[in-house]
Amino acid sequence: MKHKSAEKIQELQYFGEFGGVNPSISDSSTYTFLSAKTMFDTFEGNTEGCYLYSRHSSPSNLYLGEALAALEGTEAANVFASGMGAISAVIMQLCDADDHIVSSRTIYGGTYAFMKNFLKKFKIDTYFIDITNLEVVEKSITPKTKMIYCEAVSNPLLEVANIEALSKIAKKHNIPLVVDNTFSPLSISAAQLGADIVVHSLTKFINGTSDCVAGAVCASTEFCLQLKDVNDGAGMLFGSTLDSLRAASILKNMRTLHIRIKKHSENTLYLATHFEKDGLKVVYPGLASHSGHDLFKAQMNTEYGYGGLMTLDVGSSEKANELMEMMQRENLGYLAVSLGFYKTLFSAPGSSTSSEIPMEEQEEMGLSNGLIRFSIGLDNDIHHTYTVMKKCLLKLGILKKDSAMI
Ligand code: PLP
Repeated sequence: MKHKSAEKIQELQYFGEFGGVNPSISDSSTYTFLSAKTMFDTFEGNTEGCYLYSRHSSPSNLYLGEALAALEGTEAANVFASGMGAISAVIMQLCDADDHIVSSRTIYGGTYAFMKNFLKKFKIDTYFIDITNLEVVEKSITPKTKMIYCEAVSNPLLEVANIEALSKIAKKHNIPLVVDNTFSPLSISAAQLGADIVVHSLTKFINGTSDCVAGAVCASTEFCLQLKDVNDGAGMLFGSTLDSLRAASILKNMRTLHIRIKKHSENTLYLATHFEKDGLKVVYPGLASHSGHDLFKAQMNTEYGYGGLMTLDVGSSEKANELMEMMQRENLGYLAVSLGFYKTLFSAPGSSTSSEIPMEEQEEMGLSNGLIRFSIGLDNDIHHTYTVMKKCLLKLGILKKDSAMI
């Protein structure tokens, strides 16, 4: 156990305006000043604790930011209206026209599309590389490289990044290491391992109720203030601001994150272990057969497990679709993108969340047509889930015989 994230979040104690056990929600877009001079100073960034306008900051967003900073153990955190809002702001803050990014090639499709397509407008080039090959990472860095970018556990292939080693390379070249920790909150404390900037899609495990999109950047106070700068802060000027009502509901959900992550991990390990024994092609970092297992183990906060995501390769997109439709009919979960919900969610990334990645590149990185990504839910009786799933697999001939049903 390296970082007491859950304890740090629990230590945060806020009272509402009338002694409520939750902080009051700031229901205002703008804030009054008793003197015109204070308003001027606030614009100049010189008055701490004064609120100006809710796109800049609001009490509810600051409370949630504190909890996220506690989660990652960073000095500060800013919240955003989506994970992509957070990621795009970080990139635009760090890069000028003609700069370079060195990025893992197995990342969320939206981030990939942003780097590959959108950044063309600014002539910012991204070298998509195998992040597990540290030699290639280092060789790809040029004098114009402004960051190394990766996901702690990648979407959808569940590759594990060696954050300590990548951080050493980044430091050597005096550039920041930016890590998306959406798949492994609490399990991996990316900033403690050396990431300079940690981004999250709060839409997923951290909120956990699949009722909103939101994002965060956890970093130094200096970088978080830069993002908010009224003159050149990408957070402030792109304006992907989280609404205060949502910030308040996400903060309440964060109070149970530690319990949820443990259950997601426990259930996923159970299914992955059993399906592997049954002879299926399962990928889960908690399995000894996973290429990143030892690395995950070395980096993890043990009590939270290996996370709630696993993949099953069922051979073809037809079989994958049949299986997902059948599982939904059996009420095992929903055929839906996203992750971190109480209910299991499954989708075929090749035709959904990673469809922005061209076919040849999908093939090169090992993303096959028959791959199904599962975000395993909080099922109370995971053995029952296993038996019903197994019946579906047998019915579709994905499993040939009823092997070792326990
Ligand atoms: N990062 C990862 C790893 C994701 O899986 C996603 C969304 O699926 C995002 C970032 C983008 O987050 P959002 O949908 O909240 O913008």
